[in-house]
Amino acid sequence: METKERLAIPRQQPKELPAATRIGNFSEVVSGYDAAAAQQEAERCLQCKKPLCREGCPIHNDIPGFIRLLREGKIEEAYWLDRQTNSLPAICSRVCPHEFQCEGHCIRGKKGEPVAIGMLERYIVDWMVANQKSLLQPCALPNHRKVAIVGSGPAGMSVAYYLAHEGYACTIFESLPLLGGMLTVGIPPYRLPRPVIEGEFAALRNCGVEIVPGVTIGRDKSLAELKNEGFEAVFLGPGAHASRKLGVEGEDLCGVIHGVDYLRRVNLGEAGNLGRNVVVVGGGNVAIDCARTALRTGSDQVFILYRRGREEMPASKAEIHHLEEEGVRIETLAAPVKIHGENGRLRRIECIRMKLGECDASGRCRPEPVEGSNFMIEADAIIPAISQDVDPTAGSGLELAMSRWGTYQVDELTMQCSVPWVFAAGDAVLGPQTVAKAVHQARQAAESIHRFLQGRDLKEGR
Ligand SMILES: Cc1cc2nc3c(=O)[nH]c(=O)nc-3n(C[C@H](O)[C@H](O)[C@H](O)COP(=O)(O)OP(=O)(O)OC[C@H]3O[C@@H](n4cnc5c(N)ncnc54)[C@H](O)[C@@H]3O)c2cc1C
Repeated sequence: METKERLAIPRQQPKELPAATRIGNFSEVVSGYDAAAAQQEAERCLQCKKPLCREGCPIHNDIPGFIRLLREGKIEEAYWLDRQTNSLPAICSRVCPHEFQCEGHCIRGKKGEPVAIGMLERYIVDWMVANQKSLLQPCALPNHRKVAIVGSGPAGMSVAYYLAHEGYACTIFESLPLLGGMLTVGIPPYRLPRPVIEGEFAALRNCGVEIVPGVTIGRDKSLAELKNEGFEAVFLGPGAHASRKLGVEGEDLCGVIHGVDYLRRVNLGEAGNLGRNVVVVGGGNVAIDCARTALRTGSDQVFILYRRGREEMPASKAEIHHLEEEGVRIETLAAPVKIHGENGRLRRIECIRMKLGECDASGRCRPEPVEGSNFMIEADAIIPAISQDVDPTAGSGLELAMSRWGTYQVDELTMQCSVPWVFAAGDAVLGPQTVAKAVHQARQAAESIHRFLQGRDLKEGR
């Protein structure tokens, strides 16, 4: 189809990219605080009597508590206070969307700007590492009762952490050769350095957790087989790894690679440069990670196509800031309608302009196509990064109830599935969400598994 407007988004001359995005440079972009900066920031915390930051945090970390201890120079105590509620403080400090806790609620420093909670938490964790303090908690004596954990993402890691500290013999089964779920095969190393994740696995192994990579439960081994092998309970934390499709013609052409598939392949060392011009479709953190990764793998013109306006982009403000600083352009109110190819390979993307129509109860307005506004973009690759769904393989063979969104159906309080010895949490239950929400649900699941194996009521007192 001929369109009225051709190449409405013209190519730009390649320009010198910031050093952070030089090819192959995946080193951490945001540097942490030094002692003086951490003290100064900690001093800004108002130490509210009713800390809404704590309420806003999905795992209800005692944020004012650890900030107070930091102010008093008791950094080790601050770490252990944080660790009481957070099984993965080093990770959460770097990737949690703390801005929501601050802006959505009332924690504000004396100057009115939200306190940089994540940066302070990171300072505490990094201080512990730099000062060679042990991050390991004493583990309980083994009780020899076996629990199988499917998936090594933050949900699986957290269940293993809590149950291993109660003495259970936990085994984590992971499909991929790399451990950490989306922390490792999704979030790029320039936001979450790999040694930080490896440190958490070292702590789990120290508590006797066995880790078996390269085994897909539901395909290589069924849940029923796990039960026969003596596992008394199973935790499902397989996440949401199935890329959602755009649903437009040409999506199967060579040169189209979906967001989480692309990031996984880069992180596994299987994918590299996608060509000079790369278009990423989507407005969330996954889209931004894809765009910034494409720059680092050698593409020099990368831009984001998003169907709503900039204000509606779900990605965090900090991520959008870094993205633009690194030279990625954002084209809002535009969406792909067809992918054109030659000899089976992508050549151009046909797009349409959008306008915002009626808004729903949450205030989010529906994007509507502007008739006759089609335009073309030349591209070597397109990365649709619009969302992910749950792959139900893990539960194969058992009649586990699923929700209408294709996620595992659980009791909201206990995280128990429709089969009593199976529990689930994280993205597999919530759909694609956040690390902190996965950690929170995993903690509930671990408590339920403990009670289940003790023959206690799962709900009493919770
Ligand atoms: C690119 C990207 C960026 C993100 N950025 C952020 C961020 O900045 N902040 C934030 O809070 N959240 C972020 N998230 C979301 C966050 O990573 C997830 O919410 C979180 O990892 C979910 O944890 P999980 O343990 O439920 O699942 P996952 O982390 O997805 O882990 C599931 C694991 O289970 C394995 N698995 C699946 N099926 C099986 C099976 N049948 N047998 C064995 N193993 C199996 C998978 O291989 C995977 O390793 C991001 C996600 C992506 C994709």
